[in-house]
Amino acid sequence: LPPQSDVVIIGAGAAGLMCALTAGQRGRRVLVLDHGKRPGRKILLSGGGRCNYTNMYAEPANYLSSNKHYCKSALSRFTQWDFQAMVDKHGIAWHEKTLGQLFCDNTAKDIVDMLLAECDQAGVTICNRVEIGEIEALESGSYQIQTSEGAVTAESLVVATGGLSFPTMGSTDFGYRVAKQFGHNIVPSRPALVPFTLPQELMKRFADLPGISTEVIASCNNASFREALLFTHKGLSGPAILQVSSYWQKGNEITINWLPDIDVEEWLKSQRDARPKASLATLLTEHLPKRLATVFAEWIGEKGEACQWRRESMDKMISMLSDCRITPNGTEGYKKAEVTMGGVNTDQLSSKTMGSRLQDNLYFIGEVVDVTGHLGGFNFQWAWASGHCAGLFV
Ligand code: FAD
Repeated sequence: LPPQSDVVIIGAGAAGLMCALTAGQRGRRVLVLDHGKRPGRKILLSGGGRCNYTNMYAEPANYLSSNKHYCKSALSRFTQWDFQAMVDKHGIAWHEKTLGQLFCDNTAKDIVDMLLAECDQAGVTICNRVEIGEIEALESGSYQIQTSEGAVTAESLVVATGGLSFPTMGSTDFGYRVAKQFGHNIVPSRPALVPFTLPQELMKRFADLPGISTEVIASCNNASFREALLFTHKGLSGPAILQVSSYWQKGNEITINWLPDIDVEEWLKSQRDARPKASLATLLTEHLPKRLATVFAEWIGEKGEACQWRRESMDKMISMLSDCRITPNGTEGYKKAEVTMGGVNTDQLSSKTMGSRLQDNLYFIGEVVDVTGHLGGFNFQWAWASGHCAGLFV
């Protein structure tokens, strides 16, 4: 390892690599250290291998944080179009999948290769398989970092070690520990963009449904998302569920509108008149997959012909179909979470430089910070934006 650098960045993920190439372009001597086998492992895994690298509609409203204003400055100084310009400069083929989500046509490796090429051109040194030990702030204002390959010193230290999700990808609480060491507060973390598990009785009811997907409006604590819901062997997943999981806390219920395209009451009445001999299960197949329609009719407990439906039964159908309340008993945890909510409290960070207000020349970027995006390319956009902005000051 080069024993002396201007900038040491810990974490060769999305934010760390973006910060490195930006600082390198300014002529800073940058060393990136990571304990993993190779740089950008989460990028390679992301978006089903195609990396949903940004979103055309990214804006501060797509982020959760204890301070909703913190992300605004960085997101406006390095936008989705700035990242897209880099993608275009490298001739990477891309497409919009849905809802402004931009993906690689080929593989996520295109994005990692792009970042590595930019780092290379900017003279950045990246060292993988390096274990990080003690960090010490020296009297001179520099940092000394003990590693498995010897000690290194640098004027600026950037923590880009991400959150706790997907431990198989080398996630650790290292960033939180460094933050605490220098007096920073941590907003308690929890898994987000994560599937729900359901109580036994609901799992029994949904036993035939794993693999079935349907478009719904899912809501929790005043946030609503219209996207697909997927039944799994453990409970519920799919984009709509992952989105609301970021707003969910243990004990909360979620509400699901299973028929988002129609006014359920009007539709039930019109069906009762038009097809009086049909059962609810048959009628529901017009809007829901057949197996789900059957489960719903049983769940509501309505076996009779439409012409025999009573008012209470109709009321139950309306509430179960358009305002169905489900209380998950938990989530699948960090193992399956795409991101981590919480992290280094933004109150003690500068939204201009991403630097610590408590300790000179110490920076926190990416997911380690208490800024969490919705599903759809927003988390990478935060990594690019915060990495870029810090890279201008380190
Ligand atoms: P990371 O990319 O996690 O990088 C952190 C780096 O720090 C890692 O390389 C790690 O090895 C290293 N590190 C950690 N601890 C230590 C330590 N103690 N010592 C040395 N090194 C350390 N977001 C999107 O926007 N679009 C998507 O399509 C998308 N898909 C995803 C799919 C999956 C399966 C997962 C898990 C996440 C996905 N995300 C997606 C979220 C996105 O990957 C993260 O928000 C983003 O990678 C965060 O970037 P980061 O640089 O802060 O952290």
